[in-house]
Amino acid sequence: MDEFDIIAKYFAPLAGEGAFGLKDDAALVPTRAGHDLVVTTDTISEGVDFFAFDPSDAIAQKALRVNLSDLAAKGAQAAYYLLNLSLPHSISESWLAGFAQGLARDQETFAISLLGGDTGATDGPLCIALTAFGFVPKGTMVKRSGARLGDAVYVTGTIGDSGGGLAIFKREKHILNEADRDHLIARYRVPQPPVEFAGALRAVAHASVDVSDGLIADLAHIAAASGVRIVVEGEAVPLSPPLRALWGDDALLRAVVAGDDYQIAFTAPPGLEGPFTCIGRVEAGEGAELLIAGRKTVLPSGGYRHF
Ligand code: ADP
Ligand code: MG
Repeated sequence: MDEFDIIAKYFAPLAGEGAFGLKDDAALVPTRAGHDLVVTTDTISEGVDFFAFDPSDAIAQKALRVNLSDLAAKGAQAAYYLLNLSLPHSISESWLAGFAQGLARDQETFAISLLGGDTGATDGPLCIALTAFGFVPKGTMVKRSGARLGDAVYVTGTIGDSGGGLAIFKREKHILNEADRDHLIARYRVPQPPVEFAGALRAVAHASVDVSDGLIADLAHIAAASGVRIVVEGEAVPLSPPLRALWGDDALLRAVVAGDDYQIAFTAPPGLEGPFTCIGRVEAGEGAELLIAGRKTVLPSGGYRHF
């Protein structure tokens, strides 16, 4: 199969409005009156963000969802995406079929469609660059820079599960209970960004970030952009039972630097209740820090960095 056969067979069926069946040089992005278009891009690479042996449908879902997480953290509703593939020559048709199936399933789940992309071969590892487009009512995108003194800090979901799954793959740690192991590996393979929370987030959040590099590192991004200090109470950070089973007393310190969570951390007025947990507060100063039993904690690492 050459790239035109691949596009026609596997990707054209995923094309939506504005994509012209992937038979033109470019796509049109249908705009929405009274809305801003929000754009984000993220690349995942074999050996860094997933393993070559991961199922191809899960790899497709991860490529998509790490972007949907960014859109959700901005309060945007996802609509379209572009897909750029660098495929090793060894890629098989069954791999591609699984990959397209993973995309199709998530297009259904998240009500999004494919606008276009590029397909090429590489002598290097598999690399998937994906660009996602979403919409927010004009002027309502939630930025990193809006945190206010006196805000509380909240996070959706649980933190560190994906990092636990990765540690299991890297044989850094064993876990005896199969259900716990499956839970953590599933979180590593297929992120569960809280996309349904985007609208409520817009209504309450002053600043927001998706947790991809590590909870404390990402909150430090809000702190820097907003010119404030963020303090997290370690005891309040939501950890799943499987993660506690994996790491025991180390769970919290592992979780807050693990990354790959694709949950949303945000600041908003104190006292809110919803599908999120209050974990800290915004103060005057700079940086983000973790308190355990009220004391400042030195973290084992500053979060994930590529270089
Ligand atoms: P060009 O001649 O500009 O390189 P291509 O032949 O690469 O164009 O692409 C033809 C069409 O197929 C375009 O509409 C492009 O957006 C689409 N396309 C190519 N690769 C992909 C892909 N991986 N996913 C989605 N659409 C793709
Ligand atoms: Mg091209």
